[in-house]
Amino acid sequence: MNRQDKIIEYFRYLKDVGENELPIPDMAESGRSSGNTSQSEYEKNKRLELSDYKSKSQRLNEIGNEIKNCQNCALHKSRNNTVQGMGNPDADIMFIGEAPGAEEDRLGLPFVGRAGKLLDKILVAAGLTRDDVFITNILKCRPPDNRDPMPAEQIKCMPFLIRQIEVIEPKIICCLGRISAQGILKTKIALGKLRGQVHSFRGIPLIATYHPAAILRNDNLKRPTWDDFQFMLKTLEKLKEKE
Ligand code: SF4
Repeated sequence: MNRQDKIIEYFRYLKDVGENELPIPDMAESGRSSGNTSQSEYEKNKRLELSDYKSKSQRLNEIGNEIKNCQNCALHKSRNNTVQGMGNPDADIMFIGEAPGAEEDRLGLPFVGRAGKLLDKILVAAGLTRDDVFITNILKCRPPDNRDPMPAEQIKCMPFLIRQIEVIEPKIICCLGRISAQGILKTKIALGKLRGQVHSFRGIPLIATYHPAAILRNDNLKRPTWDDFQFMLKTLEKLKEKE
């Protein structure tokens, strides 16, 4: 068998064992010896990206498990489920609401009631889906009767949110509603005045808009909320251009 036949035979063998790609040798080694490091760097970065993505999911799951067992405030007594959040661990946009409601508490998922369905519609209109973004709340347990989260509860729960932000590293954060915006920015400034500006939280650009539940109560908030989404997308575009 000549050299060419041997190569053809080898390719047949790979096909038979279900290999659709050529096995790549240790490019880091061959790159060093040949002085050509671009391929080895590429492979290394590719491997790093993959492990980075996996570790993001794993790290979010770990935080989720801690949330499930958390008894740091009294809300653990009345919850049916914790709601850690959902979405893309590598999302550019992170939406943060205030706290789970009745449906969220029942299902353990964020924004699944009427307000959640409206948020889905807004996302679709903006060319996004839940798989593109990450959605969570400041509080991971439902306050009884959907009352506003208390400052002490927010302080106790905030470390979970900060860790989620550190893992996801979103390019932009969008606070949904007054409680979320004021709680994260540690301000008493009205939501109406916080809108339309790019704030910063731990070095990440942040914008604020109305909570979908508020839009359900007041139809007049639809237009300004849509304007805020456009503002957020334009800001994100500019941020990406700078990269
Ligand atoms: S709301 Fe947050 S701090 Fe309070 S019990 Fe739930 S997870 Fe823990």
